[in-house]
Amino acid sequence: MLRISPFWNSLLLLLAPVLLVLPLSPLATDLWAHHLLSSKLEQIQIAQQTRHQDLDQVLREQMGRFAFDCGSGDLALLRDPKFYNNHIRLQGLQLASGEGCSSLGPAIPPAAVGLSATYPSQERGLTATASQFDTEQELVAYFRIGGNTIYWVLNNSWTHDLLKTPCANCFFIEFTPLERGQHTQLFPRGERAIKEEPDSQSLSAVSPSSQLKQTLWAGAALREYAREQVYLYGFWGSVALGVVLVALYWLQRNYRRSLKSLLEAGIERREFTPFYQPIVDSRTLRVVGFEALLRWQRGGDQVSPGAFIDYAEEQGLIMPMTGQLLEQVIKDLCVLGAEQWVSVNLVAAHIEQPRLRELLQRHHWPSPLRLTFELTERNPITDIEGAAREITALQQRGYHFKLDDFGTGYGGFAYLQQLGIRQIKIDKMFVDTIGTNDLKRSVLDAIIAFGRESDMEMIAEGVETREQVEYLSQQGVYLIQGYVYGKPMSLAQLLKWQTLWQ
Ligand code: C2E
Ligand code: CA
Ligand code: CA
Repeated sequence: MLRISPFWNSLLLLLAPVLLVLPLSPLATDLWAHHLLSSKLEQIQIAQQTRHQDLDQVLREQMGRFAFDCGSGDLALLRDPKFYNNHIRLQGLQLASGEGCSSLGPAIPPAAVGLSATYPSQERGLTATASQFDTEQELVAYFRIGGNTIYWVLNNSWTHDLLKTPCANCFFIEFTPLERGQHTQLFPRGERAIKEEPDSQSLSAVSPSSQLKQTLWAGAALREYAREQVYLYGFWGSVALGVVLVALYWLQRNYRRSLKSLLEAGIERREFTPFYQPIVDSRTLRVVGFEALLRWQRGGDQVSPGAFIDYAEEQGLIMPMTGQLLEQVIKDLCVLGAEQWVSVNLVAAHIEQPRLRELLQRHHWPSPLRLTFELTERNPITDIEGAAREITALQQRGYHFKLDDFGTGYGGFAYLQQLGIRQIKIDKMFVDTIGTNDLKRSVLDAIIAFGRESDMEMIAEGVETREQVEYLSQQGVYLIQGYVYGKPMSLAQLLKWQTLWQ
């Protein structure tokens, strides 16, 4: 397997987010610009609605209170901050007598506030201030009561304020009546040139309070703003992500390195010992053998192999561990019953090279029948020919091999054929389905049928209940390993357990 140095790993992790983000930024820019446009339109609609509601309520209340004489009462009403608020730039009265007054005091010429002779003659409506000196026109609301007119010059600066953010000159808004030919007094705001840009985009919405369609335009300026934001946040965001990834990588590396040094120290101090789990013949209740399960004795605790065995294998530490385990098992075999065997778990590396053979030679064990080995189907054997050679050589010396976790991996049947294995261990996963409707129940039955037909010795693992023992026995599986008879135990516990068992 190709090994990349930590330096290159870190560099790769640091740069990967940036390298991934950069090609995506044009797309992200377009999406972000569109998002800014649509949220601006939404913002305008909300502001408009609020303004409409505020004005409607205030104007109604104010209208009913005028005396229509431009006296001090009317002037006070025109200047009352409650009515003369930030939505209104100016307000005034145009009396039937031809005189008038305004919130500024004197009357404003009617033409200036769009109330010239030609203005629509309905009772109420909207008009606009005169277009003079290149100033922007403002909307004017008016109401007629008995020949007197009240008018309000509305303050439209809110649209300017809204259109200025998040970037100046980025938007243009225009209003069109929903019904063709309908007169509209709403003026476009913002940067008119945007609409003429070749690749400008627009979004429209219908204002619920007026029969108007609002169209908001944006073009190059908004895209440029979006691009800068995407680069700024995208670049720094991905750099930050890269830094986090590098930090996580080093944390994990340090953790693994420290686990490795702990395991090495554990091997040095001979902290790896076997626990034994009995395997019982359910017909005679005789303990025929044991599986040796590795435990790491750390202080008063026993660490189960799940926490370290894969890592130990990956780091090449499994050989010394199995070496220690085997040494202990060989010693312990002397105090166990002369008919009982112990089964030791292997990994592929033990038998792809003559490692196991070397270990056994070192320990000069004289009774191969009492020491058997389990090869799991969960992890694949890459050099199947090398493994077959080693297993044959050991079988010729009298050792037996079991195929562990049968049915859980892929190579099961091939391993049995090519490695000449005659014993299988049926995994707990299948045993658990006894008494259930699980689909794997049929797999269990198929495995057992296969085992019987090909005359394999079968051991059922993880058996926890009498019902499971019963079912297995009906199917012809009598060798049982599981909590129903005994958990994995230290040698001392096992010797006590055996006495009680007998
Ligand atoms: P395995 O070889 O399939 O071992 C059986 C596991 O099932 C053991 O877990 C055992 O304690 C557990 N077990 C047995 N009966 C029952 C039961 O009735 N109920 C339940 N819930 N569990 C039961 P353990 O000891 O934690 O071992 C886990 C795995 O670690 C083993 O699975 C084996 O693959 C591996 N292992 C253990 N010792 C060694 C070793 O010395 N070398 C190698 N290479 N792997 C080992
Ligand atoms: Ca096993
Ligand atoms: Ca197993």
